Formats: sequence, C-alpha cells, structure tokens
Amino acid sequence: MSLTHPALLDVYETAYSRNPGEPEFHQALYEVLESLGPVIDQHPEYTEAGVLEALVEPERQVIFRVPWVDDNGKVQVNRGFRVQFNSALGPYKGGLRFHPSVNLSVIKFLGFEQIFKNALTGQGIGGAKGGSDFDPHGRSEREVMRFCQSFMTELYRHLGEHTDVPAGDIGVGTREIGYLFGQYRKITNRHESGMFTGKGVLWGGAQVRTEATGYGAVYFAKEMLATRGMQLDGMTSVVSGSGNVAIYTIKKLQELGARPITASDSSGFVIDEAGIDLELLRQIKEVERGRISEYATRNPRAEFVKGGNVWEVPAQLAFPSATQNELDADSASSLVENGVIAVAEGANMPSTPGAVRVFQSNDVLFAPGKAANAGGVATSALEMSQNASRQRWGFNESEDRLHEIMVDVHQAAFEAAERYGSPGDYVVGANCAAFVRVADAMLA
Ligand code: GLU
Repeated sequence: MSLTHPALLDVYETAYSRNPGEPEFHQALYEVLESLGPVIDQHPEYTEAGVLEALVEPERQVIFRVPWVDDNGKVQVNRGFRVQFNSALGPYKGGLRFHPSVNLSVIKFLGFEQIFKNALTGQGIGGAKGGSDFDPHGRSEREVMRFCQSFMTELYRHLGEHTDVPAGDIGVGTREIGYLFGQYRKITNRHESGMFTGKGVLWGGAQVRTEATGYGAVYFAKEMLATRGMQLDGMTSVVSGSGNVAIYTIKKLQELGARPITASDSSGFVIDEAGIDLELLRQIKEVERGRISEYATRNPRAEFVKGGNVWEVPAQLAFPSATQNELDADSASSLVENGVIAVAEGANMPSTPGAVRVFQSNDVLFAPGKAANAGGVATSALEMSQNASRQRWGFNESEDRLHEIMVDVHQAAFEAAERYGSPGDYVVGANCAAFVRVADAMLA
C-alpha cells in the first residue's frame, strides 16, 4: 500500500514539511494515513471539519532542561520531553522513556501511536508520551534517583489524574516510577495515586500491570491464530528484547504451551532450544540488571550469539519486543523463508515498513504494536479505575479483564479490516477502528 489518496497525501506533506528532521514521526504518520483512504471516503464530515489536520498536530509539547548532580559532584544536563498529543477520548496517557536515542521525533512517533492504541482499548484515555535522553545504564541507584527527582520537579506542573497520567516505557520501571511519584507527592502534598500508573502494588499499583504488555501480545497472537483454526500449543517462538515486555511474553507463551527459545539485548541474543529458563532470565535482568550473555554463561544448554539478530532463528511465531525498527525487510524475509506463521509486535513500531510489506505479501498474520501491545496501557487504565474508586482487584480478576480487552481489541481490528475493504489486514483494521473512535470524539 502507498499513500495515494490526495487529501491524505496533502495532510502528510504539510505535516512533513512542518516537522523537518523527524524521521520516526514521519514513518508513524505515513503508516497511519496510508490506511485511512476508505474511512475518509465513507465519512466526508471528517475532512469538512479538518479532523486530520488537527490530529497530526500535538495539542501541546513540552521540552525542558533536566539538570542533576552525578556521583562525582559534576552537574549533568539532559533534555526532558512530554508530548500531549490528543485528549479527545480522555486524559493524556502514555509512558516515559529514558534512553540515549530519545529526541522529539521519537517521542512524537510514540505519542502519535499511543492515541490509536489507547482508543483501541476502549478505556477512555487520550494519547501522550514523554521521556529523556538520559541513559540509566551504568548509573548508580542514587544518580537515577536524583535524575528522576529533577525530571519531575519540572514535569509535575503538567500532570494530574484528570490531566495527564504517565507510566513506564524503556528505561522506566517500578524503581524509576517510585522516585518520580515520590517527588510528585512531595511537591504537591497529595497522594494522588491516579496520576501515575505502573506503581508498586503496595502503594497503589495494579496487579498484572508488569505482566500486561507481554501477556496481551500473546493473547492477541492466540486470537489471530484462531481465525485460521490454529493454536499456540507446541509452536516455536522467537522473542527479541529482555525487558519487561519480552520476559512476560515468554512467560505467557510457556503457560499456553508454546516454546519461546530466544531473548536479546543490544549486545546480541541467546538461543536455548529447549525453551528459555524464565527464572534465570528474570534473575539476570530483573534482579541483577545484567547482560543477556550472562544467560549462556550460567546455562550450558544455551548459546550466546554476539551482535546477532534473533530473526535468523527458524520459528513459527515472532514477537519483536525490543525497540523501533529492529526488524527490517531482510529479517522479515528470513523469517518467512523459515516458515513464520504469525508476528505480534510487543514493542512500538519494531518492524520497518519494508518488513511489514514482506509479511503481508506472504500471508503472514501480522499484528502492529498499537493493537498487539495495547494490553499494557489497557491495564494502566484499570489501575486508574482502581485508584479512583480506592479498590484493589486480585490477580485473577485483573488478568481476566486484560484478556477480555485483548479479545475486544482483536475483534475491533479484525472487523474494521473487513469493513474498510482489507480483510485480514490488521494494520488497516487497527488504524481504521482507532481513527474512527478518535475522529468521532474530536467532531463531537
Ligand atoms: N509505554 C507503554 C506503551 O507503549 C505503556 C503506556 C501506559 O501504560 O501508559 O503503551
């Protein structure tokens, strides 16, 4: 598919020239706009009201200085971002990413994707994203704490349980959320637990939030397979990444009888044909914050491939769960040659446009991140509900709710793909289903 519809092309070109030097944002815009032709032809009211022009421009963008003192007493300066993209459906909602690759383009692409993902969950949340180019790797616990406190000392004035509710993303987990939430509480003198999600369960966090993105991606894959009369049981799976999304994708795959055999980080990947030893992986990554190579050092059955790419490994299922553009057209071709049946994106935009074309032209079931990884933010919305009503749900109840939401997200994308003339195309389905919800709210 390419962007040929004149009205949509015009919106894209205007946004492109208004936002120079933002390749990730352009990529995300293009990918959504190229799906929307049939929707805007069926709904001239969106074009008449200028919905598209408004949709591609963030409602508010905040860029700020984050000064902090390192362990040597030296002042370090990072840049902080919060892009409040769209609040038509509810308060701004989306994670914070701390990674050296973070810049305005990355945050805008993530914020734009978040609008549609959040709409698909049906939970009444708008779209936002934020973060910093701060690199937590190699920093001491106290340095991370001081950075988080400084970051929140500026950001707090833009947040609130009915205004903007952040959560984690790459480089931001429960530890960082503790420091960030603690600083917010101190500045405002309010234990406003609904202003942040992904909190520790002791102090207002929801059960299953940590597991939710990975579990949700597996549930989505299960639904896609069911449309072809297939099951996860016995399927060999490759998973990239070794953060929270990858770990809980592996866990749920194992619970449902599949065999995940890889995990990776920026140094390379490990392959363990008998199936990943989850306890060992969690010990290395969650407890010790170590490198993935350590897995092969401690487990003689496994092999560490330095600098390698998990997509070379033959498997029936693939879960890209590391970061944007990690899976290109060549990798997609090698997965296809090795017989991949389904791909579900645990990360945001991990497949390049070329990779998506390879999957779709080879009839591979392909779930874009905004649908497949929506379980994380959906569970964040459940956390907000619990905070607002001062309730705490149990693990099983929370997991059942997550499961139901993922079945609904799949259904919405599946049906929209049929309605807008591309049956089986979850990219078109997710974009169209989400866009109609957001556009209707904007019109109203
Ligand atoms: N960072 C996650 C995402 O990409 C979760 C956001 C949230 O829970 O607000 O969807």
